[in-house]
Amino acid sequence: MTKTLKGKVSLLYLSLVILIAVVGITASVNLFKLSRAIDGLMISNYKSINAANMMMEAIERQDSAALLYINVDTQKGKELFTNNSEAFFKWYNVDSNNITEKGEKDIVNAIKTSYTRYMKLFLDLEEIRSQQGISKANEFFSTEMSREFINTKNELRQLSVLNEKSMFKSKDEATKNAQDSMYLVLGISTVAFIGGFAVSRYFTDRFLKPITFLTQTMKMVKAGDLKQEADILVKDEIGELSAEFNNMTKRLQQYEQSTMGNLLAEKNKSVAIVKCISDPLVFLDTEYRIILLNDAFEKIFNVSEEVLTNKHFLEGIRNGEIFDFISGTFKSGSETEQKIFAVKANREDYYFNIIVTTVKDNNANLSGIIAVFQNVTHLKELEKIRTDFIATISHEFKTPLTSIVMGTDILSDEGVGHLNDDQKQIIKAIREDSDRLTKLVNDLLELTRIESGKAIFKIKEYAIDDIIECAVKPFYQIAEQQDKTLYFKCKEDMPHVIADFEKITWVLNNLISNALKYTNAGDEISVTARVDKDNMMCVTVKDTGLGIPEEYIDNIFEKFVQVKDADFEVRGTGLGLAVVREIIEAHHGRIWCESRLDVGSSFSFTLNMAGRNKY
Ligand code: ADP
Repeated sequence: MTKTLKGKVSLLYLSLVILIAVVGITASVNLFKLSRAIDGLMISNYKSINAANMMMEAIERQDSAALLYINVDTQKGKELFTNNSEAFFKWYNVDSNNITEKGEKDIVNAIKTSYTRYMKLFLDLEEIRSQQGISKANEFFSTEMSREFINTKNELRQLSVLNEKSMFKSKDEATKNAQDSMYLVLGISTVAFIGGFAVSRYFTDRFLKPITFLTQTMKMVKAGDLKQEADILVKDEIGELSAEFNNMTKRLQQYEQSTMGNLLAEKNKSVAIVKCISDPLVFLDTEYRIILLNDAFEKIFNVSEEVLTNKHFLEGIRNGEIFDFISGTFKSGSETEQKIFAVKANREDYYFNIIVTTVKDNNANLSGIIAVFQNVTHLKELEKIRTDFIATISHEFKTPLTSIVMGTDILSDEGVGHLNDDQKQIIKAIREDSDRLTKLVNDLLELTRIESGKAIFKIKEYAIDDIIECAVKPFYQIAEQQDKTLYFKCKEDMPHVIADFEKITWVLNNLISNALKYTNAGDEISVTARVDKDNMMCVTVKDTGLGIPEEYIDNIFEKFVQVKDADFEVRGTGLGLAVVREIIEAHHGRIWCESRLDVGSSFSFTLNMAGRNKY
């Protein structure tokens, strides 16, 4: 017995092919036999019947010829008689060479005898006619000749009947033969059908059994049971496949054991790291349920990991603002966000810089959230001390500065005496420095106020062109004096913005005065407003002045950053843009700068717009 699957399948096909061949051959043999029987039936018997009929016709014509001979025309009658006798013999010869039936030979011999006699009688008739006259001849014809004529015809009819009978017999035989063949072919086909079905069923079962077992084992392994082994029932290709599958599951088992071990070790390591981080840390799942807390978290918020595990974040920390920040970061899909929050925990005030990081699984789907509460309370306290200090100092500067400014004004107006040119120059320098110092003090005070959250914003709905108009107006004259073009352009019916009118005017004042400061005569300064793609109002102050070197652009909004260049002297405090940024960010807007040296600068900021129905 063949051992390979290929061999088995081939064997199955071979047996089916043999069965089909047996059915085919049997059917062909029977059909051949049938056609032969029908051939016999058609050819031999039909030939004899035809010959008998032809002989019958010939003898009947001879009979008429004899009458013609006697009564009408001896010569024509004899000629006709002789011709038909030739035809008779011709067909007689055909039949005597085609004897197929039993008794046919006797009939043929009888036909010959009686016909020979009939021919002889015609010779007698000739003699009687010539010697005894027409009436004697007619008498002879109707007695002697007619008898022999009838005899011959009877024999011929017998020949026809014999062959007809035989034809019917052959037809019955052919029908029986056909029926037999049909039953035989039907029988063999039935046996072949049942046999073929049984054989294929048997083989299919035999082939499929090991595959079914293997599939079941595979399903169990897929479900995680790596201990399952496939039974090797046969030594064919399926057997080989089962053996290879068993090897594979063994390898998987080994791999899983080693990977699990490594994973466990890695997990313990990670947990240990998390636990010993000094800042509070919490790990949440995608439903904001607490999965892990570290010791610092437990200590600061006075909670226990055991109690809070699998509980919602808000059950651990009842702070909606922090939860909104965490869920907002998670929903936005951003990787990490951070924000400082003032938190009261365990009856103490803290400032936490909360860093939220989203965790993704292998398929890049969000699988969890880590929130680290960086304790910045100490830094906040230091910053408060610094801003308080600056605020106090600035404030203290203001009174003497006012006196200095007033004093220099009185002196320069020569209210207390005449000044020579040198004295006027010195007073002018004192006045300029005092102005600068006043601006610095004012900027510092404004900055500390905003940074410490003490600045009051009067947020309302305003038409942006009103704000810009108000900010630009004071500068038209200065620009003209300096031979610079200043203009403001925006569409009519612009949507309203939500802003503090004074603060935004202050921002624009700063940007326009910078533009005037850092441009030369003949330059152009434009203020424009438009709605950007994020549906925010975007205001831009653009000039064609000196521009800012590339390395300064990124931190131009930082405090005390000023471009120092040999070509132009430093003309301000370096605080203006820092205050501008603080004000715009307090409005939840964005500010940025685009500039190219010797080409010009543009400062743009965005503001929220009032309800869209006004758009
Ligand atoms: P300052 O009082 O020095 O102008 P700012 O904070 O307003 O302080 O500006 C910071 C620096 O940015 C300036 O010193 C200047 O070098 C640069 N700057 C600001 N505006 C422009 C401008 N429109 N063109 C060129 N440089 C500018």
